[in-house]
Amino acid sequence: MSFPESVQRLARQRARGTCECSASWCPHYGHCRLPANEFHHKKALGAGGDDELANCQFMCKACHQRAHTTTGELGRL
Ligand SMILES: [Zn+2]
Ligand SMILES: [Zn+2]
Repeated sequence: MSFPESVQRLARQRARGTCECSASWCPHYGHCRLPANEFHHKKALGAGGDDELANCQFMCKACHQRAHTTTGELGRL
């Protein structure tokens, strides 16, 4: 499952093309500004999250992967 195109477009605009990561474990002190191209579910679908903009975080590949390994949800987008 992934976000509909309309949500992806809005998230990309909101983020201005850069990673929206705000995690404490981020090597960029939670303010990564790398170019992003992946969409992360803040709350995983399996945990009751949905495909709404509010649940979408636009992230760079590194932060996205780290987000999943950190929360133990490796592999789930
Ligand atoms: Zn990060
Ligand atoms: Zn990042």
